[in-house]
Amino acid sequence: VKNIAILTSGGDSPGMNTAVRAAAKFAFDKGLTVFGIRRGYAGMVNDDIYEMEPKDVSGIIDRGGTTLLTARCLEFHEAKYRAQAAANLRKRNIEGVVVIGGDGSYRGANYLSLEHPDIKVIGIPGTIDNDIAGTDYTIGFDTALNTVLEAMSKLRDTATSHERTYFLEVMGRDSGELALYSCLAGGGDGLFIPEKEFALDDLADLVNTRRQKGKLSDLVLVSEGVGSAAEIASKLKNKIHSSVRVTILGHVQRGGAPSALDRLLATKMGAYGVKRLLEGASGIMIGIESNELTEYPIGYAWENKKKINDNDYELAMILSK
Ligand code: ADP
Repeated sequence: VKNIAILTSGGDSPGMNTAVRAAAKFAFDKGLTVFGIRRGYAGMVNDDIYEMEPKDVSGIIDRGGTTLLTARCLEFHEAKYRAQAAANLRKRNIEGVVVIGGDGSYRGANYLSLEHPDIKVIGIPGTIDNDIAGTDYTIGFDTALNTVLEAMSKLRDTATSHERTYFLEVMGRDSGELALYSCLAGGGDGLFIPEKEFALDDLADLVNTRRQKGKLSDLVLVSEGVGSAAEIASKLKNKIHSSVRVTILGHVQRGGAPSALDRLLATKMGAYGVKRLLEGASGIMIGIESNELTEYPIGYAWENKKKINDNDYELAMILSK
């Protein structure tokens, strides 16, 4: 492998730039030519591919978002466009691609590598949702978690001053990871995640008991995968002896400078992805488990659903009482 390409795809996450930088710098050190593909698979199909120079990855280690840009590309679901994309890679002698994205991006990568085995593909998990099986953490999750914690501290101030119950909706798609760890680390007073049942009446009882004991406010975490915080709040507002408000954090959770943990993760994974390409690996995803870099066949990501840690969930339920 002499020429490689890097792309970011799907929803952006803090630390994608850090991973691009690490992959590119590692590749430069090994004497490789590195291409950047703009807007994920859209750039691969439309031939928006450029040779990267060291200056292209200079000063981006701490920048949120992705300087390679990202997009969703419907065309990539069709084999004929993937063939066009592969042809665009071949004409530059690109033999390996590092795909930084979520499990949708991994599916695209898998088709590309199966249909065009001369092109080696490595997946690196970039998403704030932490919803990819085979890795304890995805790049961007820790930063998003810190963003939620900051919001919780600020909300807690106004919630307490006005003696209110806040329902805070956080992202995560179908995964409750972000809400669960926000609840544990931010001192949440209730938790709704798609993986577990929590009766609305039980929450109402908890809030009402707390009011009797003198607690002034509550911050209840609602994962977007449950439905909507507004719906939960409206079902509960007549049962709770406290005024109710809803805050939807939304896309602020996607932004910001990556945290130290995300930068370390992105740096290790980005470099390791290129190392494995050079060793001939293809069709794999990089992960981290018990602080060791790991790899799985890329299909592992969608063939297995990442499980919520039951002990952590139980602890969150005890401490949020
Ligand atoms: P994420 O990678 O964050 O899960 P998406 O699900 O939007 O984000 O996927 C990103 C892109 O990956 C899509 O726009 C598409 O180009 C490609 N992709 C997703 N699923 C498939 C699939 N089943 N076949 C081919 N390409 C896919």
